[in-house]
Amino acid sequence: MTIGTTMTTTMTTVLNQALECLQASQRPLLIAHPRPDGDTVGCTLALRLALIALGKTPRIACVHPLPGNLTHLPGAEAFESAIPEDADIDLVVAVDLSDLSRTGGLYQPAWAERYPLLVIDHHATNDAFGDVNLIEPEAAATALPMARVIRALGIPLRDDIATCLLAALITDTRGLRTETTTSAVLRFVSELVEAGGNYLGVMQRTLDAVPYQQMKAWGVALSRLQLEVGIAWTTFPLTEKQALGIEDHDDLDLGNMLSQTREAQLFATFLEMRDGTVKVSLRARPGYDVAWIAKQLGGGGHTQAAGYSLPGDLDTVVRDTMALLRQELARPH
Ligand code: AMP
Ligand code: MN
Ligand code: MN
Repeated sequence: MTIGTTMTTTMTTVLNQALECLQASQRPLLIAHPRPDGDTVGCTLALRLALIALGKTPRIACVHPLPGNLTHLPGAEAFESAIPEDADIDLVVAVDLSDLSRTGGLYQPAWAERYPLLVIDHHATNDAFGDVNLIEPEAAATALPMARVIRALGIPLRDDIATCLLAALITDTRGLRTETTTSAVLRFVSELVEAGGNYLGVMQRTLDAVPYQQMKAWGVALSRLQLEVGIAWTTFPLTEKQALGIEDHDDLDLGNMLSQTREAQLFATFLEMRDGTVKVSLRARPGYDVAWIAKQLGGGGHTQAAGYSLPGDLDTVVRDTMALLRQELARPH
């Protein structure tokens, strides 16, 4: 089976180091990022199943509950929301996280002295915060380096593991339509389906499974939609969230929805949070780059999809972000 991208020698060395970490561990802790998406959840669950097949006892954790469109994945009920500092673990694996703050406070600083930290990720902005860093910035999803790891562990990429990897790939590519969805990725998807991955089930239950409340929220956000030359953006004030019963950890997936606006190349959503911050999601059409903007403002992501949170009121965060988006638009493309 060919997995998405080709491996360089450095990647092969790192893959071997990742394998050593996992093989030496009996009780690894796998961490998914806050406001979890299909990639972080699907990859965490796939690795969990592989490690169980090897006779190990992995734990999996995420500070936030899974959104309803991911709870159907095999093993989803095993997620814990907090891990005590003195938990009986011997390795920490960060899955689809670009920096240590993305554990959302789950990672205990004392662990740095005690356990190795393995990072498996695909963010261009990843700062290689682990002891071993398996990072593929060109990969469409963390599912690709993760698939390599699982296969190298000697576990076949089939059935439930294939379904989890499909969920990761399909959600992170918004239904296989990002710039990163190469022919090799499509071949790999096809191979996962042949190996028993539930393609239609994943499509139906992850992408075509927007809760009614979220649909209503989209309505509110769309009614506030603004179009400046080349930039489509909207805000979601706290009062409106409260009226709809939207929690701060609910990922409304507004950025992806907005990025369908034909007249725009860049897209931004601004969600007011209960802790006084504003959560910003940026999206860009192929050829445009929003990763540098997110990085500059303390967040991270990919060229086409990035995000960050800033303290301050909506107007200020909108103003600061729009200034950088206009810069990106003005760059020669
Ligand atoms: P979002 O807009 O939240 O869907 O995020 C888009 C992309 O940016 C995802 O790949 C996230 O992992 C990444 N991202 C979002 N927020 C942050 C953040 N605060 N720090 C680092 N990466 C982020
Ligand atoms: Mn993610
Ligand atoms: Mn991802």
